[in-house]
Amino acid sequence: MPQFDEATTKAAMTAFIRSRIQLMQSRPFWAHLVMKMPLEWTDATSYSCTDGTRLMINPEGFLKLSKGEQVSCLVHEVLHCVALHLTRRGSRDAEMFNIAGDIYIANTLEAERFDSIQVSEQIFAAMGIRRGYYAGMNTEAIYDKLPKPPRQPQGGQGQGQGQGGCQHWQGQGGCYQEPKDGNSATRSVQEQQWRQNVIEAGQIAGNESGVCQELIKAAMPKPPFHVPLLDFLNRGMGGDTDWSLINRRYLYRGMYLPQEYTQVMGEIVVAVDTSGSMDTNTQLKEAFGYIRAFREEHSCKLHLIQCDSNRVEEGQYQCYEEHERLPETFKVIGRGGTSFDPPFKLVGEKRIEPRVMIYITDGFGVCTMPKPNFDVMWVVINGNSFFSPPFGEVIRCGGGR
Ligand SMILES: [Zn+2]
Repeated sequence: MPQFDEATTKAAMTAFIRSRIQLMQSRPFWAHLVMKMPLEWTDATSYSCTDGTRLMINPEGFLKLSKGEQVSCLVHEVLHCVALHLTRRGSRDAEMFNIAGDIYIANTLEAERFDSIQVSEQIFAAMGIRRGYYAGMNTEAIYDKLPKPPRQPQGGQGQGQGQGGCQHWQGQGGCYQEPKDGNSATRSVQEQQWRQNVIEAGQIAGNESGVCQELIKAAMPKPPFHVPLLDFLNRGMGGDTDWSLINRRYLYRGMYLPQEYTQVMGEIVVAVDTSGSMDTNTQLKEAFGYIRAFREEHSCKLHLIQCDSNRVEEGQYQCYEEHERLPETFKVIGRGGTSFDPPFKLVGEKRIEPRVMIYITDGFGVCTMPKPNFDVMWVVINGNSFFSPPFGEVIRCGGGR
């Protein structure tokens, strides 16, 4: 337990509480997130850091900050957590990734109209980093574009930056501490917890805009075909890759796809196999959940087709314009045998020209159609492990049968 004199900790505590109150009054979204972090005084850093759970503050350093900077300092640490900086690094260089994370945070603070933290700005300047250049980029994109290796500040420590200086990003003095027992299970729990915190904060804060909305969107659960679909669209025509089981890695990546990945979706056809072999309570529920999640993420004109072995009936086809919301519930129509042909026929009849067709099924059935002139992605839910359609890509979710 680090020792600070009583007057310092008392003053720092007063400043800390005042900063939190100021946040609560003006920025409930951020305040809610800060409240999730237990405070701990530390001398392991010159100003503040986090291990993904705790908010660790050096009381002496904290008192050197202006009132506005103190508020920003709390949001800075929260942002390391909600942007999952502690678990997203992968095999990247720790120090560089920390710098990239801090640039992302500084730009975010500015976009959210918080005071910038001068000590960070001085360090960026000393390293020759113009952070405005990285505005709007996520941490990975910033990392990729950072000059390598970053220039160290001239003259080493001192320079009015106290013990911090370039040490700010190094080892013990780094501005966050990746969890030592960071096995994938703990990391996953921590990530999940922060996503939940963000969604909760969004509900409490109501209509927040800008960065908050982006974070909330990123924290929302994604359909398992989210990332492969984007990859698929990016690659243009699909080929015959089998994505096998979607694992967490893809979901995790999906949260933070660089902005270039934002797709103009155009028209999408989603066909849902409602044949008797699809279980209403599990597979169909899951299928409609995915459609909803997909649509939340990507505005598009959506043609929704329910299908079994018969010709697609009127009630089984719905078209939702880009601005139209999906209904609260979907009425399932048609519970016959499985032929995969009817939706393809319908698309031809109605002269729909989709960018891609997503076909959600258990994979038990046959497709006798020739390869259409649009891409097809088959999403197989808890289904036929041997499903091998004549064209398109296959994504398997859940176990096989
Ligand atoms: Zn930081």
